[in-house]
Amino acid sequence: MAEKIKMAVPLVEMDGDEMTRILWQIVKDKLIHPYIDLNVEYYDLGLKKRDETDDKITFEAAEAIKKYGVGVKCATITPNAERVKEYDLKKMWPSPNGTIRAILDGTVFRKPILVKNIKPSVPSWTKPIIIGRHAYGDIYKNQEIKVNEPGKAELVFTSASGKETRLTIMEMKGPGILQGIHNLDSSIESFARACFIYALSEKVDLWFATKDTICKIYDGNFKDIFNRIFENEFKDKFKEAGITYFYTLIDDAVARVMKSEGGYLWACKNYDGDVMSDMVASAFGSLAMMTSVLVSPSGYFEFEAAHGTVQKHYYQHLEGKKTSTNSVALIFAWTGALRKRGELDKNDALVYFSNTLENAVIKTIEDGKMTGDLARLATPAPEKVLNSEEFIDAIGETFKQLYK
Ligand code: NAP
Ligand code: MG
Repeated sequence: MAEKIKMAVPLVEMDGDEMTRILWQIVKDKLIHPYIDLNVEYYDLGLKKRDETDDKITFEAAEAIKKYGVGVKCATITPNAERVKEYDLKKMWPSPNGTIRAILDGTVFRKPILVKNIKPSVPSWTKPIIIGRHAYGDIYKNQEIKVNEPGKAELVFTSASGKETRLTIMEMKGPGILQGIHNLDSSIESFARACFIYALSEKVDLWFATKDTICKIYDGNFKDIFNRIFENEFKDKFKEAGITYFYTLIDDAVARVMKSEGGYLWACKNYDGDVMSDMVASAFGSLAMMTSVLVSPSGYFEFEAAHGTVQKHYYQHLEGKKTSTNSVALIFAWTGALRKRGELDKNDALVYFSNTLENAVIKTIEDGKMTGDLARLATPAPEKVLNSEEFIDAIGETFKQLYK
């Protein structure tokens, strides 16, 4: 195709740090710029720039996503004490992902990228299992007490108007432990909407599970909110899209997941999502084959890779050594964002480009061309392990064959 694809509405591009920043540039130069007249609003979220702007750049990027609807983000350093020294920072700036998530009120969905020559640990999982984790409250915002003598434990709520509700948790006959947790209807509603919106966007069934037989009020509230929002806002849209919303108990869900072929979104409460996302990610192989998208209840999308900045590889790169860093999740962040832009703007060429580039990535790996992290997992093992740039070049070659 001779003519480059035009984009009517800009995409919010957020650059990042270390090895992923290096790959980000190569991916754009070799796989995107030759085919697309890229229309982006660029925000440099590299640590230096965040420090220079007192982190204002992160807030501006999040506001830009609200304005244009779609963003694509490179991995970024979340500074710790070591990074403060390494980069001579004014301050230990917070995680950009945390900042953006708070501004967009979003939920993160993680989706594995499947290839035939890397078998998931669970053989029946032939389609991706996407995990959506509620990232607010429950045990992650708890209060705990260790008690050392007998006594009465109570749950007390004092309303703003002064009314008191009091329940006995336990007459403690000896030493023990106590924990108080909470959640907010507003947060659960945002989570539910983000899940319904994402399931529609991916055209996959949505599963949600809690333990409402035991926590009749607490988990019952999650179940009721999901149900109400589904009935009132999404039932018809799901029917039209040919997808379903399925609620069950968490233990039943786990049993069904193990026997399923995948291909659905599994919405998880905070703790369930913490545990299950690591289980699902490791079963599918590699963090470098996992994409991550932040979806807000207002329908804004931010695409990124699930992995970090691959610091160890970056230091090798700085020493002038060749690295074998996998760029798949970064490429899929771009294709996810460009496809979403294409869908929203009715730009079929952009959708076709994105789908074709994803197919080219998968075909390249299935043809036995891959980086070291995948070579360790693939059957048969490839004859040669490609370095970071050779792998991107190989994808570029496959893409040229497929892009008609
Ligand atoms: P990481 O960047 O995910 O890398 C950890 C290890 O996983 C690497 O050393 C490498 O293993 C392997 N790996 C990850 N991605 C890979 C890829 N694309 N290709 C090949 N191997 C890959 O995690 P980290 O080193 O713990 O964190 C580095 C920085 O990233 C930190 O400053 C952290 O704050 C940041 N971080 C950012 C995000 C984000 O922006 N979303 C997420 C997580 C972490 P081998 O060394 O064995 O090859
Ligand atoms: Mg975890």
